[in-house]
Amino acid sequence: MRDFITDKSNLSQQQHNYNTMNQTKYIFVTGGVTSSLGKGIIAASLAKLLQARGYRTTIQKFDPYINVDPGTLNPYEHGECYVTDDGAETDLDLGHYERFLNVPTSQANNVTTGRVYLSVIEKERRGEFLGKTVQVVPHITNEIKERMQLLGKSGDYDIVITEIGGTVGDIESLPYIESVRQLIWELGENNGIVIHLTLVPYLAAAGELKTKPTQHSVKTLMESGIKADILVCRTEHELSQDLRQKLALFCNVKKEAVIQSIDAATIYEVPNLMLEEGLDRVALKKLDLPEKNTPDLTNWNEFLFRLKNPKHEVNIGLVGKYVELQDSYKSILEAFIHAGAANETKVNVISIHSEYLDANSAENQLKDLDGILVAPGFGGRGIEGKIDTVRYARENNIPFFGICLGMQMAVIEYSRNILGYADANSTEMNENTTHPVINLMEEQKNIENKGGTMRLGAWKCSIKENTLAHKIYGKTEIMERHRHRYEFNGAYLNELEKAGLVASGVNPDTKLVEIVEIPTHPFFIGVQYHPEYKSTVANPHPLFVSFVAAAVQHKTK
Ligand code: GLN
Repeated sequence: MRDFITDKSNLSQQQHNYNTMNQTKYIFVTGGVTSSLGKGIIAASLAKLLQARGYRTTIQKFDPYINVDPGTLNPYEHGECYVTDDGAETDLDLGHYERFLNVPTSQANNVTTGRVYLSVIEKERRGEFLGKTVQVVPHITNEIKERMQLLGKSGDYDIVITEIGGTVGDIESLPYIESVRQLIWELGENNGIVIHLTLVPYLAAAGELKTKPTQHSVKTLMESGIKADILVCRTEHELSQDLRQKLALFCNVKKEAVIQSIDAATIYEVPNLMLEEGLDRVALKKLDLPEKNTPDLTNWNEFLFRLKNPKHEVNIGLVGKYVELQDSYKSILEAFIHAGAANETKVNVISIHSEYLDANSAENQLKDLDGILVAPGFGGRGIEGKIDTVRYARENNIPFFGICLGMQMAVIEYSRNILGYADANSTEMNENTTHPVINLMEEQKNIENKGGTMRLGAWKCSIKENTLAHKIYGKTEIMERHRHRYEFNGAYLNELEKAGLVASGVNPDTKLVEIVEIPTHPFFIGVQYHPEYKSTVANPHPLFVSFVAAAVQHKTK
């Protein structure tokens, strides 16, 4: 009899395991009240905790704009365009996902309304809807639901977190919200939940935190048939127990599901704050999943400790033309945070507008810097300032790091001032230059469409031994992510190398030059790719780590 009972409980345990192992669980993150509340950081922090508990977790973002991807968006409007290994040009939130989780994302992790419509319209043109009237419901919503489950169905993940861009109640978010409603219904109980991120503003005049905007936003969600399972409340002040009780009662959630997300000194503290608030535990409970082990954040917390207790401090100039909007250089700024912690160094990044810099003002603007980074970019505006910056760094032995356009500027500067080719340029800036040291690759010449047509994604690079690049990477084969149309013109390779600008990294298949450096300079390196995309908390990028170390050394000299 006893055995029978044991068997039976084993059986139900087995069924439970079967269910929990085969059914990918879905968490949807929506936002209310205002934009810019940091849904991406909350999603990444939750994913981090679930990952640390032993769940294979990924995050994807669905954006409500009509652009097929953010590649054609001006950085001033949407911040940086992030690039994945598989060459997708994506929303910058994917950068946060990778930096937190240390797992690469892909094309499938970012979907826009534009991409959804494009694929539905292409299906319509191919006659796949068999003469049916194609409509938002069900055709667009079906396409969205299918894409929402793409990563889940791969079998690679236990939990998929989907961040819905925009704010609940927006006209353009409606098809996404309706898709979430349908999908949660289809997935069945405990397989899909909604976390709603809202703002609890503090009214200084009244000296009070206000819950009404949250109540309204939860109500808006309800009107679309979705009940929030968990509320994450962004706030500048602690939420009292009474206030949590009030929010729970009026928003129809359990009190434990009212999660406070108080302003933090750094985004990297948010996983710990969410752990303290129990966001991961409440989510697992709602999904009927076991808590497994307590999240092991030892490495993460070591990083945080080094970040908060620096022994050195350096000033690094970031010379670019999108400096007004911090988000334009998001991944670079984050890579400096990782590299700073690795060096126990506080890195002050000083934005310098390349348009307002020239040979005369260079000294004034650059002389106190411990390192200079010339940023990526497109088009001719501000490039002369970048070239003057490279010259100043080269002649004054200041650690220099050029990324993409920054590397191209270094090649132009060397050609002009060392080779003596006064009009050397990139054909992007001057098609008629007599010395096109940077030019378009053959494959790029006939391309007319701007979206998704650059050299994108991860490419191999072979590194020459006994070079700075080799010392930095400690290996001879690397993969780095690209996003550009123009290239180092191989016709000038011999001449430049003889004059002292060494090509230390070359694509083994195409022979395109990917890294240049000056061996006689303390630290001068330019890379055609974007190392910043691959820097994570767990793996700070070696180029940034070495650059910061060189800046520390320069300062102490
Ligand atoms: N505008 C340059 C090119 O297209 C550099 C691009 C970049 O810096 N990402 O090649």
